[in-house]
Amino acid sequence: MNRTIYLDNSATTRIAPATTNKIAMLMDEHYGNPSSIYDFSNVPRTEIHTTRKVISDILNCMQNEIYFTSGGTESDNWALKSIAENYMDKGKHIITSKIEHPAIKNTCKWLEKWGFDITYLDVDENGVVNLEQLESSIQDDTILISIMTANNEIGTIEPIKEIGEIAHKHCVLFHTDAVQAFLNIPIDVKEMNVDLLSASGHKFHASKGTGFLYVRNGVKMSPLIHGGRQENGLRGGTENVPAIASMRIACNYLYSDFQKNYDHKRYLQKYLKVNVCNTIKDVKVNCDIDDLRLPSVINFYIKGIEGESLVLLLSRYNICISSGSACSAGSLNPSDTLKAIGLTDEEAHSCIRVSISEITTKEDIDYFVDKLKETVEKLRSFR
Ligand code: PLP
Repeated sequence: MNRTIYLDNSATTRIAPATTNKIAMLMDEHYGNPSSIYDFSNVPRTEIHTTRKVISDILNCMQNEIYFTSGGTESDNWALKSIAENYMDKGKHIITSKIEHPAIKNTCKWLEKWGFDITYLDVDENGVVNLEQLESSIQDDTILISIMTANNEIGTIEPIKEIGEIAHKHCVLFHTDAVQAFLNIPIDVKEMNVDLLSASGHKFHASKGTGFLYVRNGVKMSPLIHGGRQENGLRGGTENVPAIASMRIACNYLYSDFQKNYDHKRYLQKYLKVNVCNTIKDVKVNCDIDDLRLPSVINFYIKGIEGESLVLLLSRYNICISSGSACSAGSLNPSDTLKAIGLTDEEAHSCIRVSISEITTKEDIDYFVDKLKETVEKLRSFR
């Protein structure tokens, strides 16, 4: 196979069709600064406005509740640091989980240095937060709960609506990192009781270096980046118009056919699971409840095999997968998420993550399973 079989869509995605032309046009032809008042800047200004509208329609919120950022990491940092700063009069306790992305976990670690008390909730063997434990962890000084909508390594979807209900019952704000979930599952911030939500463009077929933070009107925020009046004075700096526009195109591309795309990914995910489990011995799916998992991500434990070796050997066949979270790739520390669901260090090293997208085909899966089987047999024969 000459083309790349890209099965690492949780790390990043291919840009949506027609986007590169649009980006080039906004850099080459309509390159005006959106803050300039002359007509030449109408196109970039309109792009920003339309993208905000498209995203707010999808999330069921107001347009002025969407703030453009540079991506998921910035959105997560901004949400947590800003709530910490603005609500510390009420208290310094924050609740999160043990399976959050480093963008949340390391922000929490940083806040600990400033005297914040962080509770890291356990998860069960499928990666789900326990609602009773969550509620009993709330203290008088709790100001924020931050639990991801869906996990980036095993795909577990958390009970977001219920978490939001508990948070609001106790007058606590609720942030969710929806970087992996946005456009993979339906999200309605009102229905799901969410106050702040992070997303990242390059995870949903838009450009890298862009994303957004939803902040419910009424939640007090302060800038993470100080500067001009962009983003309602809360995020200074000339907007990355081409990248922002790419989110509009990607949203339109994915959302107009949301159900069809969802069904396609779900079908391929089940097809992949059945084929891998039926053709390779001693394989287990981490979080093996289909409806509890994103349609895009599946994580396999393959007994006796080192995940990193598999990733490298499969890349010789132009296959891209991951042995853990993309953002922790390169580090040989066993994944916190896999340990949190009960795997030993050794087992955690024997896991691979396969993540599909709207453009993955059945042929890609067949080729992958074929090469996976061959490579696993080869590696096992060396033992
Ligand atoms: N949150 C989650 C759940 C992620 O999976 C990632 C990236 O993998 C991020 C945050 C960081 O996003 P970005 O790469 O846009 O900074």
